[in-house]
Amino acid sequence: MTRGGMNAILRLLDRDPVRPVFTRGMKVSTIRSVCECQARLGADLDENKHVMRGWAAEARRRREEPAAAITIGAEKPRFDVGWLCPFCMRNTLRSFDASGLSWREAPNPEPPSEPTAAPAP
Ligand SMILES: [Zn+2]
Repeated sequence: MTRGGMNAILRLLDRDPVRPVFTRGMKVSTIRSVCECQARLGADLDENKHVMRGWAAEARRRREEPAAAITIGAEKPRFDVGWLCPFCMRNTLRSFDASGLSWREAPNPEPPSEPTAAPAP
């Protein structure tokens, strides 16, 4: 992992969770990987290969959690995506080939505010 890549991931910690903002007709591509803790990592990329939504799924407990994720070097044919795994708190960086992405039409726009957690009692 490069120092720049790690810094980019660490900056996510100070950022608000990324909300999916789908525009009708735009293309998205879903990438997947696996964390060192065996959690499955996924992210939806927009046409510029920027992460719109990241998540991690724990197969054993069938649990899926939002995961902070960021694209590093989105303009390059070979780019990296870093996840902050919510299960083991590792920063996981994976390389992807832009030519290997499969694109699909984005789903219908979702409501801008989606309840993510129950309010505290
Ligand atoms: Zn993990």
